[in-house]
Amino acid sequence: MNRLWVRLMVAFVAVTLVGIGIVAVLAGVRADSEFRNFLQEQENEQRQEVAEIVGAYYRNNSSLEGVGGSWNLSRSEHDRRRGQNFIIADVNGRVVYDEHGENTGAPLSPNQRQRALPVTANGETVGYVVFGSNGGPPPLATPEQDFLAQLRNSLILAGLVAGVLGIVLSIALSRTLTAPLANLAHAAHRFAARDWNQRVPVQGAQEIAEVATAFNAMADDLQKQEALRRNMIADIAHELRTPLAVMQGNLRAMLDDVYPLDRGEIATLYDETRLLSRLVDDLRELALADAGQLTLNLSNVDVREVLQNAAANFSIAADAQNVRVQVSSLPPLPHVRADADRVAQVLRNLLANALRHTPEGGTITLGATVQGKFVRVLVRDTGEGIAPQDMPHVFERFYRADKSRTRSTGGTGLGLAIAKAWVEAMGGKIGVESDVGKGSEFWFALPAEKN
Ligand code: ADP
Repeated sequence: MNRLWVRLMVAFVAVTLVGIGIVAVLAGVRADSEFRNFLQEQENEQRQEVAEIVGAYYRNNSSLEGVGGSWNLSRSEHDRRRGQNFIIADVNGRVVYDEHGENTGAPLSPNQRQRALPVTANGETVGYVVFGSNGGPPPLATPEQDFLAQLRNSLILAGLVAGVLGIVLSIALSRTLTAPLANLAHAAHRFAARDWNQRVPVQGAQEIAEVATAFNAMADDLQKQEALRRNMIADIAHELRTPLAVMQGNLRAMLDDVYPLDRGEIATLYDETRLLSRLVDDLRELALADAGQLTLNLSNVDVREVLQNAAANFSIAADAQNVRVQVSSLPPLPHVRADADRVAQVLRNLLANALRHTPEGGTITLGATVQGKFVRVLVRDTGEGIAPQDMPHVFERFYRADKSRTRSTGGTGLGLAIAKAWVEAMGGKIGVESDVGKGSEFWFALPAEKN
């Protein structure tokens, strides 16, 4: 009873049965009374006919005496069948004809006088006809009763057929209406049991189709998240395993006196631990970004200053690679509302990437423009560029365009993901444009301070 389709069915059946019941009763009562009216009218017509025949008899014979003799011939068969009897009285109320011959010669009783139908001839009342014994509506003859009974039976039969049809349709309809919901519940259970490919067909009434669409969209999203999560764990494990294996191997070699226990070796190991702790810090930052818990120290930041500092900080590393780092001529720039350290960090990540991907003799240009209510900062290099198929993914975690590159030869694959997390946390946007073989231009836009 607690199932939706059963409830719907009960409601449909109840409505159907009540409807059919009301129609059947109304139709029955109405047909009965119409039929009785019809009979009554017929009866009245016949009575009138009798009175006219009696009147005609009077006109022919100037008296009602002997009226009964010719009577039986002209009486309608119908009247006889219904057992309707009548009395004819003369103008003084004396019975001149009684079908049963009982009261001939007797006067009409007061009751009979009341019900008497006058017989007229030449505009004068010449006698009376009194029908029936009690004057009420004529009793129904058997065929008429049969007709009414048949009518009632037909109505009951029609009601029963309609009722059964109603029940069958109700069951079909309520099951059709609720089947998609059952599908949805089934799919949701399967999905909860980690069957990630469960989807439901989008069908049925609009509202149910909308729920199915929403469910499928949610399932797509969760499946994607789950795949990302799995990849992320695998990537983290991979990133941690490689340096740990190197350190372990080197330490083992030192213990076994294969490597000398000197400062150079220890410094290498120390560098590995620094890189490892950097990786762990990066991961922690991304976890905080996911939880929306990056803490910002917002102030009005002078972009020009940040750009010049970044260029100066990278000049030594760039010189070593024979790459030129320059700041293009900047237009007047409003301050941005941001966390100065984080802006410097984002710029550092972009510059480090640019330096890593720019060959000797190349140039890295830092610039900034005003764009509406934002200041757009850019880092352009003359490096190898990014292939179009890699473009949508470079900001994803652990994504490396060149899969063969490892942490030792390149970065962790987290630099751009972290830059994106910080820029977005500060209410900005980040993006890239690139021409393979010519270079890339990474940009981020931060909201200008409000004056
Ligand atoms: P990584 O630590 O590997 O550099 P990032 O998240 O910083 O990780 O960058 C992701 C990938 O984007 C890089 O592996 C590289 O393939 C590509 N990339 C980033 N910056 C540049 C650039 N300036 N030129 C060409 N490719 C770039």
